[in-house]
Amino acid sequence: MEEMLQKILDQNRYWIKYGEVPSYIPALAKANPEDLGVSVVNMKGQIVTIGDCSTKFTMQSISKPLALMQAIMDSGPVEVFRKVGMEPTGDPFNSIIKLETLKPSKPLNPMINAGAITTSSLINGSNSTERIERLLELVRTLAGNNEIGINEEIYHSEKETADRNRALGYFMRDIGVLEGNVEDILDTYFRQCAIEVSCSDIANIAVGLANKGNTLDGQEVVPADIVRISNTFMVTCGMYNASGEFAIKAGLPAKSGVSGGIMALAPQKIGIGVYSPALDQRGNSIAGIHILEDLSAWLDLSIF
Ligand code: GLN
Repeated sequence: MEEMLQKILDQNRYWIKYGEVPSYIPALAKANPEDLGVSVVNMKGQIVTIGDCSTKFTMQSISKPLALMQAIMDSGPVEVFRKVGMEPTGDPFNSIIKLETLKPSKPLNPMINAGAITTSSLINGSNSTERIERLLELVRTLAGNNEIGINEEIYHSEKETADRNRALGYFMRDIGVLEGNVEDILDTYFRQCAIEVSCSDIANIAVGLANKGNTLDGQEVVPADIVRISNTFMVTCGMYNASGEFAIKAGLPAKSGVSGGIMALAPQKIGIGVYSPALDQRGNSIAGIHILEDLSAWLDLSIF
């Protein structure tokens, strides 16, 4: 396993030069584009790590399936899906266009920014601090790492520059999707995006999702029917407007983030965490995608 994984990593290092580290959140631009790591955990909890697996990065959109699961646990599926849809958009992750053109309007799914800001608002808590504590608890439990916290620099950097997410938030309050204090809801979203993890943390979270929401020693963290919903969204919407292509080429539930991480899983088999911060034009880690495609082909992991 180690040898093959090393080979897959080495042969895909080539893609880094075709990608770019994002700068629209200024602090993310400090990432080293050469960093590259992959962690794989099997159902026995055995982990193989190759490359930069202890480098910390922020979850960004990888937090979206976790916020979705917490929102469903807290508010129930009826309330969540009254406010957020179940369909892919084909648009960039931060697009606003369909919020206005579709009638009646709600974010199309919980993996785009508009949908994720909405699910964050449906986590129990009377303010952002209470909501983020619940989400952090979920992330820490699934990752088996109580040290996981928030990168304050990246949180502030996003909060100070998030005009587009702010526009989405205020627009959604106008159409009745968000209720209450928009700044406080956005604060939860910015903080969840700044939760700091390593490749190995996300591989451990992924293996819990591969195990239907249970830790490998059998403790239920998220009910299986809620994990099934989240894993399905990861297939249909997890790689933004590249989800269809990724489903054909890799065939795995996966969620990427603009920090360059990707969390992927093969149900009942393995959890995978990849990190490589150079992104393609859709905001997915360019080497990360290719590594997952090769890994899926090698181990015959496609769920289709
Ligand atoms: N915090 C980022 C944003 O809202 C997350 C987006 C992403 O990872 N695609 O723009």
